[in-house]
Order: sequence, then C-alpha cells, then structure tokens
Amino acid sequence: MDPSTITTPPATSFDPQSLRADFPILLQKAASGEPLAYLDNAASTQRPRQVIDAISDCYQRYYANVHRGIHTLSESSTDRYEQARRSVSVFLNAASSDEVLFAAGTTAAINTVARTWGDQNVGRGDVILLTMMEHHANIVPWHQLAERVGCEVVFAPLNDNGQVDQQQLDALWQQHGSRIKLFAFTAVSNVLGTINPVQQWVRQAQQHGARTLVDAAQTAPHMAIDVQAWQPDFLVFSGHKLCGPTGIGVLYGRRELLESMPPFLGGGAMIQSVTTEGFAPAELPDKFEAGTPPITEAIGLGAAIDYLTDIGLERIHRHEVNLTQHAHALLADVPGVRLIGPQDPADKSGIVSFAIEGVHAHDIAQWMDTRGIAVRAGHHCAMPLHKSLGLSSSTRASFYLYNTMDEVERFVEAVREVRAKFAPQGRRRRRRS
Ligand code: PLP
Repeated sequence: MDPSTITTPPATSFDPQSLRADFPILLQKAASGEPLAYLDNAASTQRPRQVIDAISDCYQRYYANVHRGIHTLSESSTDRYEQARRSVSVFLNAASSDEVLFAAGTTAAINTVARTWGDQNVGRGDVILLTMMEHHANIVPWHQLAERVGCEVVFAPLNDNGQVDQQQLDALWQQHGSRIKLFAFTAVSNVLGTINPVQQWVRQAQQHGARTLVDAAQTAPHMAIDVQAWQPDFLVFSGHKLCGPTGIGVLYGRRELLESMPPFLGGGAMIQSVTTEGFAPAELPDKFEAGTPPITEAIGLGAAIDYLTDIGLERIHRHEVNLTQHAHALLADVPGVRLIGPQDPADKSGIVSFAIEGVHAHDIAQWMDTRGIAVRAGHHCAMPLHKSLGLSSSTRASFYLYNTMDEVERFVEAVREVRAKFAPQGRRRRRRS
C-alpha cells in the first residue's frame, strides 16, 4: 500500500491516554511541575513496558551469544533473535526474512548500500537522484560515493507546499535518463512531514532502469509498509523511532541484489570459510551481519513491532493526522507563525515544523522546555532543505501514539507566549496594550 492511499478508521476508537500507561517515562512531571509533553518523536520515541520487559527478560533469563553456541541459552537467544527478524519480515511484507538485515540504524543501512552496491554499480558520470527534503543520512553517503567514484548527486526541488515538484522530477528523468543509477528518497520528510508517493516513484525509476532506496525512518513508525507492493530495491529504518531500542535498524534489500553485492564489514559470523589466502562469504542474511550482532536490541525491536502491530498502524496514523489537524487549526490563529511543509494535514504525517520571524528556533524550544514541552530546534539534519526554504533553522513538534489533544493545545499556547515575549511585532503589541 502506498502511504498516500492509507484509509483510516474513525478517531474515536483511539485512546492515547490509556496507552500512556504503557510508557513509564511519560508518567513523570517536567521540571515546571506540569506533565511532560514529549513532542520530539521524529528524533526518537519513548519505549513501552512491553519493550523494556522484553530486553530485561532477555538479559535476566536467556541471554547468550547467537548462532555459535550449542548450549541451551545460545539456542534460546538465537531463536528469539531470528524470531525478531521474522517479525520485521512480516511487518514489511517481505517475500523472505533473508531479505531483512539488521543494521545499527538507518544511517548505517544507507552507508552499507552506498559502500557495497554503490561502489560496485556506480561510476564516473552516473547520477544519484535525491530529493531536496532528504535527511543528511541520505545525502552524505552519496556525496562520499561521488568522491570515490566520480558520480554526480542531483536533487529534485520542492514546490511551495513542501512537496517534490513532479514536473521538475519528470524533467530530471528526461535530462539524465539512464545515467540515473539510483533514486534514493525519503517516504516521509522528517522536517516537513510530507508523505511521498513511494509506489509511483519506484515505478518511474523502474521505467528508467534505475534502482530505488526508500528511507522509511519516518514511515515505519506510523504507516504500514508493503515492500512487495511498493517494490523498492532497498528500504531502511531505525528501531528507536518506533518504540524500539537504539543501535538497531533494518536494511531490507531484494534478494538478488543482496546476493550480488559484496559484504561490507568483514569478520566473524559473515563467512562460510576462511583460509590464509582468503574467505568465502556466508549466505544471506549472515553475509551482512559481521561480528556479534545487537542481540537484545533486535529482540527489543521485535517487541516494539509486535506492540505497534497490536495497536494498528492505520489507527496510529489517523490519530496523528487528527493531532496535526488540531495543531494547524490552532496555529492559524497565531500571527507571524510560518508553517513549513504541506498546509493540508491529510498530506503529511504527525510533524508540525514552523518558524517565527525574528525569533530563534532555540529560544522557542527553550521556552517550551520551561513549560514542560519537549520539541526540537535546529536544522534537523536537513541543511539543504532549510537553505531551499530560506531558513537556517526551524522548530519541530512531532507526534506519536501517546500524544493528546491537550498536549497540542499546550504546545500552541506556548507558541503564543513565545511570540508575545520574543517576536519584535509581538513585543511592540504588548507594550502598546
Ligand atoms: N532518515 C530520516 C528521514 C530520519 O528522520 C533520520 C533520523 O532522524 C535518519 C534518516 C537517521 O536515522 P538514524 O539516526 O536512526 O540512523
């Protein structure tokens, strides 16, 4: 299913308040004495007891190194580790769990593709096509590839609504044609919240004989993914953005591609045999998992996926759209706030980024913190995007399943306060009144 075609059930069936009880960290009060409003979920989410317990259970009852042991603990660890891989495979609707590789996160997964598939298949004069809304994790590895092999990195520009301009994208395919070896794009922007038409873009790349890499870091936590329907060549995401642990993520790749690629890291576990002359790599997925893997992290990721699947990603997405709708409607009444990204909440995920003229994003975030509201300020690892918007930074509130309408209202009230306190126009108005 394409994220832009998701149908969602009525919001009334969703109760974030009861879900909050699963998240111990959310039960605390902020330094201000107010309940903590955690609106920094695009950076990293919080973990429910179900995930914390799965990790703790592993360490307390059956932890051992995986794959190599004959003893009972090692067999139990291996079973749970491989069960987590199967959970991810079902989560992505992959044809086989051999196509699911564990990596340290989105960044590590993209670097793996650039260093293996990229070095093998991209050369001087070839083009890597990106969009202007990419996170640095989906820019820098391609600049590095360009330094190594002499390819060109080209960016598809955005329109005023924070979406890729499809006509200009078409023109880039016409201009560069078969020189484009890879179209690597985010399915959802981490700054604008824009939901991109994944399936349409994969088909377009296929028509030109190019490969695709989908950065699903901001998609996997919020929307159902179907790699068999979407047909990307690679798709990547991070565990910590979907209630899982840090240090674990996923590199999905189509089997024939993964089989044709050389391994990236060398060492234990990724070999079939080693001699003094060389080595023969193991079969998938071990070939790309050198050394002791992040065992408890993978098990925690499996628990996080089970947790989200039980709640239902479509319901989570619908809830986030409702929160975003409420935030947009309330912010429309606050003068001087520039919302960046799609103006219609139906076109975006639960991300609300904005700038206030004359007020630095850090001042906004700091003020919010005094109100017990955690938001992010800065360039959000998207400097080219901010430059294209004529901004050096923005402030981002990003919602998840445990956020409430009340938190959205507190957030907008804090925006009002910031503007009155820091913005030149706001200050003038206050002095006059
Ligand atoms: N891509 C996108 C769209 C992101 O939002 C992020 C993190 O914010 C990343 C990549 C990098 O993820 P990680 O830091 O988990 O590797």
